[in-house]
Amino acid sequence: MSRFWSPLVHQLTPYVPGEQPKIENLIKLNTNESPYGPSPRVLEAIRQATNASLRLYPDPQGLELKQALARYCQLDSENIFVGNGSDEVLALAFQAFFRQQKAPLIFPDITYSFYPVYCQLYEVDYQLQPLDDQLSIRLEDYPSENGGIIFPNPNAPTGKALDLQDLTALLERNRDSVVLVDEAYVDFGAESAARLVKDYPNLLVTQTFSKSWALAGLRVGFALGSPELIEGLNRVKDSFNSYPLDRLALAGAQAALEDRDYYQNLCQTLIQSREELTVELEKLDFEVLPSKANFVFARVPETTSAQQLAQQLRDRALLVRYFNKPRIDKYLRITLGTPEQNQQLITTLKQVL
Ligand SMILES: *Cc1c(COP(=O)(O)O)cnc(C)c1O
Repeated sequence: MSRFWSPLVHQLTPYVPGEQPKIENLIKLNTNESPYGPSPRVLEAIRQATNASLRLYPDPQGLELKQALARYCQLDSENIFVGNGSDEVLALAFQAFFRQQKAPLIFPDITYSFYPVYCQLYEVDYQLQPLDDQLSIRLEDYPSENGGIIFPNPNAPTGKALDLQDLTALLERNRDSVVLVDEAYVDFGAESAARLVKDYPNLLVTQTFSKSWALAGLRVGFALGSPELIEGLNRVKDSFNSYPLDRLALAGAQAALEDRDYYQNLCQTLIQSREELTVELEKLDFEVLPSKANFVFARVPETTSAQQLAQQLRDRALLVRYFNKPRIDKYLRITLGTPEQNQQLITTLKQVL
């Protein structure tokens, strides 16, 4: 607390990201990063861009990246917005669309914990919609009176995905507020809503280079939407930071999009690992939710507590994520590692259980 802070700052409860400790031989399965490096072409493009042109500001619109994304998503560049990680894109979207007086923003009670943080920061009124007993999002229950709707698909931290049919039904009945689908994990087996963007001017889809593109350190995210939504985002962005993406980030992200085979391969490998890890965890009496993400959400065996188990793993240089929250405090979220790391996790679990 400080008397120098603006009044709102006293009220904030900031988001706490998964820890990035410096432990030797750490197996890091706590922040949904990729266990594999980015395409060699990305590294080469960043090296190429590392020259005296860094004295110049980058393109404030990131037009070349937008054009590459437009080709990738089969949309037009006027449907694309790029930002410094999708967290920034989300923050700008909260400012641009969800500061409504008419009704609260709706999101699931168990979801990405940055949403309530943005609500505090931008003074957005919100209402939580409970997941059902299987920890699934039930869009049928979302109230028609709302100042916007946001959820991840697949959801975090459950990993469960909705299909496009449910989403389309929501968009059919909810036309007067923005529906934001956060597709941070969509490339690991869920269906993207990108192709609905042309039909629903109130649909905004966000994606990131941090997970499937193995570039969490580069900070690149993007949004897909109607020109009027993109214009709204641009107005807020250009009132905040003209250059959210630096030259190296623009070069790296563009190069990633040019090596689609490499990334399809990574995703396939991780999907395969997910199925294998699920089987192994089930053998140890974990209850694993069906995941379409690069992590699994698993209920620990009755004989132990999730919090204790997370600590026991940490003591053995294995990090997983535990959320001390009602309804999910018996679960661990485990990011998929390499097959060797996953095996090490299973071996360690057998020792401590
Ligand atoms: C990881 C994640 C993001 C943020 O990703 P960035 O690294 O900021 O691009 C957004 N939403 C969800 C649900 C995530 O898990």
